[in-house]
Amino acid sequence: MRIYVDIDDVLCETAVALCAIAERDFGRVVRYEDVHTFNLQEVFSLNDEEMARFRDLSHTVEALLSFLPTEGAVEGVKALVAAGHEVDIVTGRPASSHRGTEAWLKAAGLGDFKPTYVDKYGRIGCFDENKGDPPTVTMEELRARRYDVAIDDSPIVLARLAAWTETRILVFDRPWNASFGLAPNMTRITSWADIVAQI
Ligand SMILES: [Mg+2]
Repeated sequence: MRIYVDIDDVLCETAVALCAIAERDFGRVVRYEDVHTFNLQEVFSLNDEEMARFRDLSHTVEALLSFLPTEGAVEGVKALVAAGHEVDIVTGRPASSHRGTEAWLKAAGLGDFKPTYVDKYGRIGCFDENKGDPPTVTMEELRARRYDVAIDDSPIVLARLAAWTETRILVFDRPWNASFGLAPNMTRITSWADIVAQI
């Protein structure tokens, strides 16, 4: 099977790391359990200037490397590959995060994977581009790859994946998607052990 695996809060604990950055650099104390929306500006009560700075700070190589792998994620991806599946690592991060993303994958033991950057949030142009960064594909181009399974956590993305009726969507359980109404092609999963067992 062809499988799409998201990075943030599927492969690694991004929200936990972002809470730490918000506290350290902006004095905003928010617990992971209380991140009930995907709108980080709202979650951390940041004004526009602070949000721009937060976005830059959270995409540095140093910040990205600090994200801890999700329990069982690295072993899970390897188990899927060992079982003969084709795994693509797909992210809504800007392509300008490539250096940090690549370094994180390598440090996690997933250095063989070349991440696909997708414009999941319609924010191409929000970030400076570095020469040599990989191209960013559209959601339509991504769909054309005809994945059998896609694993994601973002409600904004899940709302779009509801239309991918040919693809089984595994919704990685997180506080910000708890109230998301699952479409018929979706199953909520709570761990990587669950993912491997389902596939
Ligand atoms: Mg994600």
